[in-house]
Amino acid sequence: MMYRTRFAPSPTGLLHLGHAFSALTAQARAEAGGGTALLRIEDTDRARCRPEYEAAIYDDLAWLGFRWEGSVRRQSDHLADYQAALDRLIAMGLCYPCGCTRADIAAAAPQEGAAPGVYPGTCRHRTMDGYRPGEAIRLNLAKALAKAPGPLAFDETGAAHAGRHSVDPDRLIAETGDIVLSRKDIGPGAYHLAVVVDDALQGITDVVRGEDLFDASYLHVVLQALLDLSTPLYHHHRLIRDEAGKRLAKRDDARAIATYRAEGATPGDIRRMIGL
Ligand code: GLU
Repeated sequence: MMYRTRFAPSPTGLLHLGHAFSALTAQARAEAGGGTALLRIEDTDRARCRPEYEAAIYDDLAWLGFRWEGSVRRQSDHLADYQAALDRLIAMGLCYPCGCTRADIAAAAPQEGAAPGVYPGTCRHRTMDGYRPGEAIRLNLAKALAKAPGPLAFDETGAAHAGRHSVDPDRLIAETGDIVLSRKDIGPGAYHLAVVVDDALQGITDVVRGEDLFDASYLHVVLQALLDLSTPLYHHHRLIRDEAGKRLAKRDDARAIATYRAEGATPGDIRRMIGL
């Protein structure tokens, strides 16, 4: 199978040095593998995404020299694909509606052994028959793990975790819990489901992305198994940090590619700054 990867930014702010590293790493790996890199715009969160940020992504990437193959896949144009995947999971009996607010979740007693922030399972007893329009839909992870055909594992080529990684069901339940598949505000385009559907639909053989998403890959493998999708190879790369060691965030406009450009930096300067 020909090597195919992608760069998948969300237009919620200006691209910064971390994005430059991600896009150029994806491109370098595609070139080394004799394949291609695609561009996907992960914009299902309409409240946070802005057309001007999307326009800036195209400008910044063209300036940097990231060349993507074919047309751009904009997730907000493909909500029906995520809905179809969600419908399959619902038909398998793996989903339940959830009307909890953030405050409800914060006030509920945590599940025993669960990591902070993991959904406490308040609505887990509910069934989809009781779904009220506007509610979120969650995956019952314990049921999903019991139903997902194995082996639940992925191969990683990034230096920090190189090797094969198997899903540990108890650990995934404790650390990830019943994730949202369809959000109250945006419907069926929640990240985990949309990314798995798109990687498959776009024929991605190698996912190149930041190390902050390494743990999410265990969950992605479970969704791939349930939806009959093949699991790509994963390559989680190092993150670009500021002088204090903090990972760059979208609000760090000081490190936005556009800011460096405006100050006269060249694409070569950017490569040097990120150690490429
Ligand atoms: N859209 C995600 C981000 O901007 C990237 C997701 C991925 O590469 O899987 O951080």
